[in-house]
Amino acid sequence: MPFYEYACQACGHRLETMQKMSDEPLKECPECHKPELKKLVSAGGFTHRATGLDNAPACASGACGASCMSK
Ligand SMILES: [Zn+2]
Repeated sequence: MPFYEYACQACGHRLETMQKMSDEPLKECPECHKPELKKLVSAGGFTHRATGLDNAPACASGACGASCMSK
């Protein structure tokens, strides 16, 4: 499942979440409750999909985060 990171444009709060491709993007910030969340590109997930290097050292170490460790 894709792994997304959001940042709130109003208060700067950041969060990470797993969502299906078909899910609506999050909008409301859980901190300030303003509809200012903006989806960030997940660098880790994008890199793995782009290169196919699922067994690269960076992945094995967990450096790219939970999205690769859960495969
Ligand atoms: Zn906020």
